[in-house]
Amino acid sequence: MSETLEVIEPATEAVLASFERAGAEEVDEAVARATEALPAWRAMTAGNRAALMRSLVQVMEDHHEELAQLEARNAGKPIASARGEIGMGIETFRYFSGAPEQPIGETIPADGGLALTVREPIGVVGLITPWNFPLTIACWKMAPALAAGNTVVLKPAELTPCTSVRFAELALEAGFPEGVVNVVVGPGSTVGRRLVEHPGVGKIAFTGSTEVGAEIAAGAAATIKRVTLELGGKSANIVFADADVGLAARSAPGGVFDNAGQDCCARSRILVERPVLDEFLSGLEAAVAQITVGDPLDESTTMGPLISAAHREQVASFLDDGETVAFSGTAPDGPGFWLAPTVLCPVDPGSRAATEEIFGPIASVIPFDGEEEAIRLANDTIYGLSGSVWTRDGARGLRVARAMESGNLSVNSNSSVRVTTPFGGFKRSGYGRELGPHALDAYTEVKTIYVRTEEE
Ligand code: NAD
Repeated sequence: MSETLEVIEPATEAVLASFERAGAEEVDEAVARATEALPAWRAMTAGNRAALMRSLVQVMEDHHEELAQLEARNAGKPIASARGEIGMGIETFRYFSGAPEQPIGETIPADGGLALTVREPIGVVGLITPWNFPLTIACWKMAPALAAGNTVVLKPAELTPCTSVRFAELALEAGFPEGVVNVVVGPGSTVGRRLVEHPGVGKIAFTGSTEVGAEIAAGAAATIKRVTLELGGKSANIVFADADVGLAARSAPGGVFDNAGQDCCARSRILVERPVLDEFLSGLEAAVAQITVGDPLDESTTMGPLISAAHREQVASFLDDGETVAFSGTAPDGPGFWLAPTVLCPVDPGSRAATEEIFGPIASVIPFDGEEEAIRLANDTIYGLSGSVWTRDGARGLRVARAMESGNLSVNSNSSVRVTTPFGGFKRSGYGRELGPHALDAYTEVKTIYVRTEEE
């Protein structure tokens, strides 16, 4: 295996950066650094830790545009989206910078005395992230982990390590002590695996595919590591006939083609009530025609390339199954891993396009009749990450959202993720919650201390 890991820019196929490819030995070194830094970091006063988090927010803001440009080039995402994503990473640190100074437990009456609970950091936490939202997802994990007093070893996806490596430099610039934030760049099969199996790592927070998530849960079992898993999805976007159909159609491309469809929350199954199918499709076609696929650094671009040649090939294979293409947008010719946004309709609910996570700019439209069928189709999947319901009937919106087996639902919206609300999956979309007030649960242990106050 080569010692150098070359990072390719998906829009040009040129080499963007080169890194030394780490292996198991480098993981051991990073865990040793994180272990050494842990006692002082967890003992730091809450006020000082909060102040350091705020200082990092400031440094990230100072480098917002630099990070956005780097992310746009490395992951092939439109610069406007990259700015938004880096902004969300910064907001995540801002939100969790308040956490060190919040209450950390309860006081519970207990026979003969009093018990109190305290939240303790887990220790050294391993973070393994995917290539689709590289720094943003790393921030979702790092901010609560660090706020709670853990030290971290981050393994970014080998296709998109640039912003994570830069982040580690910025953390030092912000005043974080050496060893608190560590980044190891290398393949999942060696670096990721060693992190999962390392006896000095107390927890793995993983975002990636369901297949690798299962391997990680199995690998972590031998050392009884805590594990949280944010995995794949096949989310449903249900459009009822009583909805504002025009609005649902205009919004649908954002729900499935943002990030070129490389989004765990992609609403890649659009379920449309039959009486409004034609109206919805004509609105969707007009909206898809507005998508500008091209150079990520061009301000007018709304969709970039796919991440790699291999991934493009895998996504394009869904167009070879004989499903009817209703319409598609346009995309540049090479170089670059381009694929035009494409809508399939009508799609057989049992087909590959309707059941597998495509992770690319292909949407399957499936007609349905009535609420019961919509719910049955929406839940007919191994996944349960996101989803939407479009209706003007408020009670129906809430009723259907509650019936959907999924962690993040929206009514009359395609949004899934906010810094202040919990995010995570049902079923094979994983377990554990990121963001919002629940995120700290994933990075802390509850300790009970009983104090006897009465004579025995
Ligand atoms: P992936 O599972 O191939 O890789 C994710 C990370 O795991 C990478 O850093 C990779 O190097 C590492 N890895 C691979 N094999 C490993 C092993 N055996 N042990 C330890 N680490 C290993 O996923 P990907 O292709 O980078 O990302 C796409 C997937 O991520 C999609 O399925 C998508 O739905 C999912 N995703 C989920 C969320 C969520 O929040 N639920 C968010 C984004 C992406």
